[in-house]
Amino acid sequence: MNEKIRVKDVTPVKIQKPSEALTKPNYSARNRIYVRAVQGTFENIRRFFGLIFLGAFALIPWLNYNGQQAVLLDIAEQRFNFFAMTLWPQDLTILAYILIVSAFALFFVTTFAGRVWCGFMCPQTTWTFIYIWFEEKIEGPRNKRMKLDQRKMDADKFLRKTAKHVAWVGVALLTALTFVGYFTPIDALFVNFFTFDAGFWLSFWVLFFTFCTYANAGYMREIMCTHMCPYARFQSAMFDKDTYTVAYNAQRGEKRGPRTRKMTPEQVQAKGLGDCIDCNLCVQVCPTGIDIRNGLQYECINCGACVDACNGVMEKMGYEKNLISFTSEHELKGGKTHIFRSKLLGYAVVLCVMVGLLIADIATRVPLEVDIIRDRNTLFRETNEGLIENVYTLKILNKSQIDRSYAIQVKGLVGARFIGNEIVDVAGGEVFTLPVSVATAPENLEIGTQKIYFHVSTADEKGDVVETEEPSTFIFTGV
Ligand code: SF4
Ligand code: SF4
Repeated sequence: MNEKIRVKDVTPVKIQKPSEALTKPNYSARNRIYVRAVQGTFENIRRFFGLIFLGAFALIPWLNYNGQQAVLLDIAEQRFNFFAMTLWPQDLTILAYILIVSAFALFFVTTFAGRVWCGFMCPQTTWTFIYIWFEEKIEGPRNKRMKLDQRKMDADKFLRKTAKHVAWVGVALLTALTFVGYFTPIDALFVNFFTFDAGFWLSFWVLFFTFCTYANAGYMREIMCTHMCPYARFQSAMFDKDTYTVAYNAQRGEKRGPRTRKMTPEQVQAKGLGDCIDCNLCVQVCPTGIDIRNGLQYECINCGACVDACNGVMEKMGYEKNLISFTSEHELKGGKTHIFRSKLLGYAVVLCVMVGLLIADIATRVPLEVDIIRDRNTLFRETNEGLIENVYTLKILNKSQIDRSYAIQVKGLVGARFIGNEIVDVAGGEVFTLPVSVATAPENLEIGTQKIYFHVSTADEKGDVVETEEPSTFIFTGV
């Protein structure tokens, strides 16, 4: 018996034990997660949404409307151009409604389908997956990348690492330029930045956001989701037993264990094994490095990568799919998911009301703002004709993008005479300051304060009247 038994070296490569990274005590060094690429339905859905989101993000600032950038948040001028509409700080209610609608949309979607926003639409996830795509294309699949990182530096490693970082920086720079292009005219920004003529602050913000994108998508990745994103922390408050989340069917999967494909169901049963072959693929594809078989965890972003990976395995093994799936707690326990439940309906009702209010606010918005400032130095004065006169300053803000002529009238005072320009031209997006006075005979007045109204009107491009009436006071304390 001197024949040697052949042995295979199965010493584990000490690189990634993802879930270990998340169970280590705080402040310990983080294990790098080498995400394995995966194909499947959810990956296709993510790519689809990712492409739409990226396309919209990149193209929107290049759209022009009426000869100017269609979407521009001009901080210096304190206005937000959105196609034909220009929003001003005075339109804060619209912004408030948009934020409330977004919040309730998020609550509704989270209650219904868990953190799908995180897994499919969040910029953090989208950019992380873009960076992983470059990593995969340049450094190779997961195992190759793990070995490459263990290897000492050589020419091949140097070239691959350099190419990867160049690609990452390129994506980060384009992202930053596009993002800053929402706040300043984008065509000029691109030209000026690449000709070193953008000025200090613009260059600073472009480089700052380049760094943020590079660090975030290249290095921070799951740290952002697990340690910094507040949404991850309060999402569980929205979950209930009918929320669809990614979950492992432990009843079906356990006891987990390896086996050959040739084993018959009877042999598997005889060994007491469930459907999980313990291949660990669901862990290797997870961008946050968790093992979903350990149950629902706050790190899970519901991206469905483990569902795709496990379904691939189930298919190969000839088992039923969806050992890991988007499912609810009720369904996992053999029950039914209740779609129409009070919490979800409550969010839906509030969401509809808020969308209605937002639409109403936009539809009834008057693209004209008038401020009246009464002269505080003189309460009133008597003119040569013996009339009583009050002095005001009118500030007329043309909130549209088109130059307009405005007619001004004064109302609410018997025999009132308006002294000043009755028609003024105001350029689109400009404020016009107009000193005026209002006078009337003393016999038309009572002693004290009277309410008067300044009526300002114009016609829009369709010929519809755009008007507003602002109240002020007329003071007379007697002669
Ligand atoms: S556990 Fe699955 S769904 Fe959750 S983050 Fe990991 S891969 Fe995505
Ligand atoms: S991918 Fe599926 S079979 Fe493989 S370990 Fe995960 S749950 Fe088990």
